[in-house]
Amino acid sequence: MTDYSLETLPSCAKCSRLVDYLGSLAPAKGRNRSEYWNRPVPGFGDLQARIFLIGLAPGAHGANRTGRPFTGDGAGDFMYPLLHSTGFASRQDACSIDDGLTLTDLYISNAVKCVPPQNKPLTSEFNHCRPYLIAEQSRLPNIKVVVTLGRGAFDSYMRLCLEHAIIRRLRDFPFGHGASYQLSNGVWVVACYHTSRYNVNTGRITEQMFVDLMHHVRDLAENG
Ligand code: SF4
Repeated sequence: MTDYSLETLPSCAKCSRLVDYLGSLAPAKGRNRSEYWNRPVPGFGDLQARIFLIGLAPGAHGANRTGRPFTGDGAGDFMYPLLHSTGFASRQDACSIDDGLTLTDLYISNAVKCVPPQNKPLTSEFNHCRPYLIAEQSRLPNIKVVVTLGRGAFDSYMRLCLEHAIIRRLRDFPFGHGASYQLSNGVWVVACYHTSRYNVNTGRITEQMFVDLMHHVRDLAENG
């Protein structure tokens, strides 16, 4: 039986496609492969947090290089200044795992802990990695709101809720930016468009949309 404790995460090799991809991934121009984390990327943040933010998967040359979610790529360059301005992050920039960034009332992770080809995990990879999400959430005793970035993270989290009989039917919870659902255990789930460079460049998500959503999330954590 697979051990899904977070202690086993660094050596997890459950998804053979992702293990192969990690072994073959070429470094970005001007970088060496030895600079890369190149293994499962764990979540990080405030263990007393009321808010758990879940992205899709590590970016090939961001989190997969630095070893910390949304650190060192465009998605983080968009998100961390806004998390700083809303009081959740201690600094605007996130460039390396030892840059001193701390989070307040927020814990950040990904639905899939290993970088997938074309940023597209397979359904089986979401399924294999979901127990690690459960393990991470179980470390957060004050959790009030789960923010999911993008449909992939949202769907995986709602499936987790279905598997644990927290919800009865997936179709009762459609994805949409800002959609907010209070579950039978009292926890809120809030859907957000992903903060990928593509979504930012196309205007699908803007700084104001993300800031407004995080204010809404804090309000739910305090009053929901
Ligand atoms: S994606 Fe998750 S389950 Fe799959 S190999 Fe990586 S850590 Fe293990």
